[in-house]
Amino acid sequence: MKKAMFFDLQGTLGGEFLGDIRDFDFYPFAMEALKLAKSNGYLVFILTNQSRIAKGYFTLEIYKEHELRLLDLMKSNGVDVDGFYFCPHDKGQCMCKKPKDGMVKMAMENHEIDLARSYVVGDLGLSDMSLSKRIGSKILLVLTGGGKSSLSEFKYLWPDVNPTMIAENVLVGVKRILGEEI
Ligand SMILES: [Mg+2]
Repeated sequence: MKKAMFFDLQGTLGGEFLGDIRDFDFYPFAMEALKLAKSNGYLVFILTNQSRIAKGYFTLEIYKEHELRLLDLMKSNGVDVDGFYFCPHDKGQCMCKKPKDGMVKMAMENHEIDLARSYVVGDLGLSDMSLSKRIGSKILLVLTGGGKSSLSEFKYLWPDVNPTMIAENVLVGVKRILGEEI
């Protein structure tokens, strides 16, 4: 079984945490974080809630154009992710909107993953940190995006979850995880 890092997208790898994927661009340090995770034996997945599709801000087709744009950007930077999953729903009965674990289950249909040795990497307590608790993985909370407010005024939304690690940004965090494993 392999270990994995499940990266949140907006506020973690780039953009703004409640932003629009049409405006998304990677943080300058994000590619190195993804590359380091891959080259050190982690499967790399991106899991993103995209409720703006259900809310009608943009269509599924427009979303897919931007997903492709991001995949191309990563490829041209030498990053080949193992999976890119999105939840298009808003309110309702879906099984995929974080903190639900449907996107992790999709990743596990194609890969044998040791969740206890894996990380959820994200900026939002309610969605990312709570997902991690649900699947029994470790947690890297990044202080970009909504990370700081997740730890302060919004900590009440995830009261019984404790990050394994808190880092200034995704690159610092991934380096620290890998450093501790050596
Ligand atoms: Mg986020």
